[in-house]
Amino acid sequence: MNESVILAGDGLVKKFRISSRRASSNMLTAVDGVDLTLNRGESLGIAGESGCGKSTLSKIMAGLLKPDHGAVSYKGSSLTGLSGDGFSQFRRSTQMIFQDPYSSLNPRMRIGDSISEPLGIVGMSAERQRAELTRIMNSVGLDENVRNRFPDEFSGGQRQRIGIARALAANPEILIADEPVSSLDISIQAQIINLLLQMKSDLNLSMIMVSHNLMVLRHLCDRIIIMYLGVVVESASAPDLFNRCRHPYTEALLAAIPGLGNGQNSREKILNDDLPSSMSIPGGCRFHPRCRYAADICQKEVPKLFEYASRHTAACHFSKQIYG
Ligand code: SF4
Repeated sequence: MNESVILAGDGLVKKFRISSRRASSNMLTAVDGVDLTLNRGESLGIAGESGCGKSTLSKIMAGLLKPDHGAVSYKGSSLTGLSGDGFSQFRRSTQMIFQDPYSSLNPRMRIGDSISEPLGIVGMSAERQRAELTRIMNSVGLDENVRNRFPDEFSGGQRQRIGIARALAANPEILIADEPVSSLDISIQAQIINLLLQMKSDLNLSMIMVSHNLMVLRHLCDRIIIMYLGVVVESASAPDLFNRCRHPYTEALLAAIPGLGNGQNSREKILNDDLPSSMSIPGGCRFHPRCRYAADICQKEVPKLFEYASRHTAACHFSKQIYG
């Protein structure tokens, strides 16, 4: 194992059975053969449209969902091979932050008790728990005097701070956040993004951030992978992805960002229809029905991920011809 890799997914596949009489297939393919690595201290973004499999992938990496095939390794050991204690340690070391912090908080529990719950699990004395609670609440910008209030007394941004505080109380090495700011007002989004950046640098956390918003990931992440219908189509450092993308789908996502596209490549021109269903995935390159560069080969042959530059991979038959 590369010593710097803290979490890795190898050949991950996850399908869900759907009950529908009208569907031609009753299996929905959410993740379809994904490899990924997270290095210590790195923040990795996972982007793509709704339904591309990014949330499912993040839950697999957090150990909340079991893959049908493939394995997740934590510090070189497969999760399936971990003992009960080993798996508990992994679950403490890997904390999730959810899109809707309200749903992850017990509405009948005072927020001080919610945040300090993980401290009690590791056997911390009541006196130390109190001191830790104060420290953690201060670190995320919450006044300790509100610890006796209930979740419904807080705004969305404050609830997300509570969710982050609860995650930090477990003293994690890895944070996995699924759309952590998408339910918040724009002004609050910036506060939470800055808080996550500060936590990452203060605590040397490794992070996986899931978002449909590439600009959020650009601020938060060192590296970004782009998913399309369950597979990774591009992976690059955040600057490389924004300055020199190498996949037509990434190009289309970037062109859709207000102020970033060149004005001619509007989303209507590049992505003029919806993501196909994950229950009937197109053959060949999955993106071919929506790709403006598609040729005959794209309908027949699956493009492989190819490394065009250091740690910059893309899966497109014509990447070199299109992007040089
Ligand atoms: Fe487009 Fe073909 Fe490249 Fe797929 S392989 S992204 S269809 S050009």
